[in-house]
Amino acid sequence: MDTHLTRLWMRAVATAMDLHKDRLTQLDSAIGDADHGVNMQRGFTAVVAALDDYEAENVGDVLVKTGTTLISSVGGAAGPLYGTFFRTAGKQLTAPTADGGELASALGAGLRGLQKLGAAVPGDKTMVDALMPALAAFDSEAPAAAAAKAADAAEAGMRGTIPMQARKGRASYLGARSVGHQDPGATSAALIFRALVEVLQP
Ligand code: ADP
Ligand code: MG
Repeated sequence: MDTHLTRLWMRAVATAMDLHKDRLTQLDSAIGDADHGVNMQRGFTAVVAALDDYEAENVGDVLVKTGTTLISSVGGAAGPLYGTFFRTAGKQLTAPTADGGELASALGAGLRGLQKLGAAVPGDKTMVDALMPALAAFDSEAPAAAAAKAADAAEAGMRGTIPMQARKGRASYLGARSVGHQDPGATSAALIFRALVEVLQP
């Protein structure tokens, strides 16, 4: 993984958020306030613009810039949560390239930062239910193979949110009525890992 590929990853995430905006909003209209698609699209459009004007020296710079931009451009809960995830991960990566193990460990630190902020644990029906299995599957082999396993695990985790009752965020206000719907944040988290697979494909 190098600086250029990290930029391409963020561009691929922006494209995925454009493509899946309506789906994310639809999911958020069932158990939230119908803005997750718009939030993610706005956030990653701002990220692409910010990265275009930015001279990154290493992989971490790109991720820190991504996180800072998400925090300042997204109003909903997901902005600060994803922002913290990318910013915390980026702070660990200070070299021009990162191997699979370094990327896995940095993203793991990002998830711990996100959980510190949002206090969600697995089973609460949030993005953590996709991120946690994704990072557990992201082992230290070559990034392309690790990312493929992570994306599959994120998608399984995403589907696993359907029967859960939400205990964090807006969806938790619905109590038992949140059961039977896929969590929007877990869905965007799976898109983020699928975008990484696309970029790392040999
Ligand atoms: P908002 O809920 O403010 O409208 P979004 O709609 O953009 O923000 O994001 C909603 C998603 O954020 C949820 O689907 C869930 O995955 C995630 N989320 C909400 N609260 C938390 C939390 N405390 N920890 C982790 N993720 C959370
Ligand atoms: Mg919302």
